[in-house]
Amino acid sequence: MAKRIHQMTIGEWERAFPSDDACKAYLARNRWPTGVSCPRCGAVGVYVLKARPFHWQCKECSVHGYRFSVLVGTVFENTNIKLREWFRVIHRMLVSKKGVSAHQIYREMGFGSYETALYMTHRIRAALVDKNFRKLIGIVEVDETFIGGDDRNCHADKKLHGKWRQNSFAVVGAVERNGSCVARCLDRMTKEALQSFVRETVSTNVSLLATDEYPAYRSLQGEYNHGHAHHAANRYVVGAVHTNTIEGFWSILKRGLMGTFHKVSRKYLPLYVAEFQFRYNNRLNADIFAEAIRGC
Ligand SMILES: [Zn+2]
Repeated sequence: MAKRIHQMTIGEWERAFPSDDACKAYLARNRWPTGVSCPRCGAVGVYVLKARPFHWQCKECSVHGYRFSVLVGTVFENTNIKLREWFRVIHRMLVSKKGVSAHQIYREMGFGSYETALYMTHRIRAALVDKNFRKLIGIVEVDETFIGGDDRNCHADKKLHGKWRQNSFAVVGAVERNGSCVARCLDRMTKEALQSFVRETVSTNVSLLATDEYPAYRSLQGEYNHGHAHHAANRYVVGAVHTNTIEGFWSILKRGLMGTFHKVSRKYLPLYVAEFQFRYNNRLNADIFAEAIRGC
């Protein structure tokens, strides 16, 4: 059993962020842990604008001085939404295992419109996209699935591999056992797409690449130490060769998408997948909130 990690409670959040200024100070600290630098040219010798809190001036990239606030270059820029409201929505999204819908955010936050909540949640999801990707190592499980459509509850042996279904979207994922997960939406579930996903995300030095018996993975055998489970023969676990970990991730993702979001369009599916991936990969990170803010 994985040990439980304490994550910021609502009470702790309230104490940490009593005001918009507290949020701005927190953002500045996390954005520039070694000192403020110019978002435009990267210069570190910037001047504090005393009359305007959380504003600085850079004289390196402009003769008149380039003025910027703590929000410049972040997802919080150019909105009328208070930073504290952004922070509250982010906290809400991070502590909900299955995610929280824009409708829910809209009701809880009392925004003027649903569109505001939708805009915020999409921008936050975009900020949660993994920017520090490294190839997976150790024991890695790879599996593919369809989101939506008719076969969402089907097991691998009943999947119509490679066949396009109306209203269902192909997703492939790889997970390092006891480690991180990478999931990606595919335009089509083809052998080529699955193989190039594996080559891009999984190191050839893995001790084991575990998949189901889908033939697309078989030709990777020369490149990887590959083992596959025989789902069709009801042999799901043969020693270390199983895909239970990635199937656990699919289960959280699908329950979230079906239960919380009901219906997700193909256009936005990658953002939801990124959100679930972020939560999964930071499940043991007690400071997941700071990690999210650094990506914003
Ligand atoms: Zn500059």
